[in-house]
Amino acid sequence: MEIKKIAVVTLGCRVNQYESNAIAHDFEKHGYDVVRNKKDADIIIINTCCVTKMAESKSRRTIRHIHNENPDALLVITGCYGQRAGHELLMIPGVALVTGNGEKENLAEIVDDLNERQMPCLDVSNIMMRRHFPAAKIKEKETSRVREYLKIQDGCEQFCTYCIVPYVRGPVVSRPYDDIIAEAKSIESRGFQELVLTGIHTGFYGLDLPDDIGLIDVLKGLLKETTIPRIRMSSLESREISDEIIDLFASEPRLCNHFHIPLQSGDNEILKKMGRPYTREDYLTLTKRIYKAIPDAAISADIIIGFPGESDGAFENTIDVVTNAGFAFIHSFPYSPREGTKAAIFPHRVPGALKDKRQKLILSIGDFYQYRFAERHLWQTLEVLVETKDREGLYQGHTDNFLNVRFRSKKKNLIGKFVRVKATKNDHGILVGDEIEP
Ligand code: SF4
Repeated sequence: MEIKKIAVVTLGCRVNQYESNAIAHDFEKHGYDVVRNKKDADIIIINTCCVTKMAESKSRRTIRHIHNENPDALLVITGCYGQRAGHELLMIPGVALVTGNGEKENLAEIVDDLNERQMPCLDVSNIMMRRHFPAAKIKEKETSRVREYLKIQDGCEQFCTYCIVPYVRGPVVSRPYDDIIAEAKSIESRGFQELVLTGIHTGFYGLDLPDDIGLIDVLKGLLKETTIPRIRMSSLESREISDEIIDLFASEPRLCNHFHIPLQSGDNEILKKMGRPYTREDYLTLTKRIYKAIPDAAISADIIIGFPGESDGAFENTIDVVTNAGFAFIHSFPYSPREGTKAAIFPHRVPGALKDKRQKLILSIGDFYQYRFAERHLWQTLEVLVETKDREGLYQGHTDNFLNVRFRSKKKNLIGKFVRVKATKNDHGILVGDEIEP
């Protein structure tokens, strides 16, 4: 029997990336050959995103582009866009099947049976009914052994008024503690140097589990049960960063001192309208607490620009928090209404041109803070986990507080190794330097 070739294309966040890897591995177990080049594939899985209008339009563009590149391949759509509005994708040429997030763990089986169905077909289950965490699907083939993601949780029940995620990811589902430790041990045995804990709302870890277990127990368990040199959190909501978590990060060198804490707005009225359960004062108090305990920590944030009702004064309040929080990095996004969310019908929309102007201002402030954070580390000796080597022969990697560093070294094959680097130049927030011999 001819072995079918599949390729997997991922859009959106790290959770999607993690799940794409699991999907590819599952197809391998079902006897498919996973190929990198989409042009060689008989079936192409496209794992979509719908977090903003822009993300949706990118998902549609990608599907069309892939069909033009390889018109003979069957296109199988999965992910958040499929979950939210699969019917919108069904008529795109080349699409054979549209599924949602709930189908990801059985996608290989669904595709196995595809020939028996009339195509194109829609297969999207009710994500609100999902109550279990898909079994771990461990990859055996790796392309690099630097950083690996471990998904510990799915879903969100916060229902921020602008956010579509709770509707497409469903309620909180936490991965059992023992499964997390088992996958972390497997990641360790395969030689990875950095583990990134990821999820949709990681601070809600454990809410649905019968035992009284939370994120802090997972972190302590990973420290005790593995020797992975670096353990990183992908993102944490401000209310879920307790003093106990800060103290643990401060005392444990293996926990990376980078805290990505979504801010979204620095104006209390807007935060209330967004359904965010904190004030600007709470947020600033938290950043001060983190810096007091870990002076070298990097704090980064997501900010939404132009939420309905965001006046000049409200935007100035956001700038004020940004300038007082001491961010190392900022990610900002223009607000786009998501059908089905509460904010989609809020009045007082901010005109596009004004959103663009505010976005440019926030981006330039973000660039400045990134430069300033890097500047603080100039002439210091930094420990860098090496990720890549570029065409000019410079290695590249990150410090534990997520500084991007490029450096020269005469040594070969440093990828996946820890190297001490003296930073001698700040190139727009990226540090450049030389390896220091021990
Ligand atoms: S916390 Fe809010 S923004 Fe984050 S996923 Fe949940 S609803 Fe969306």
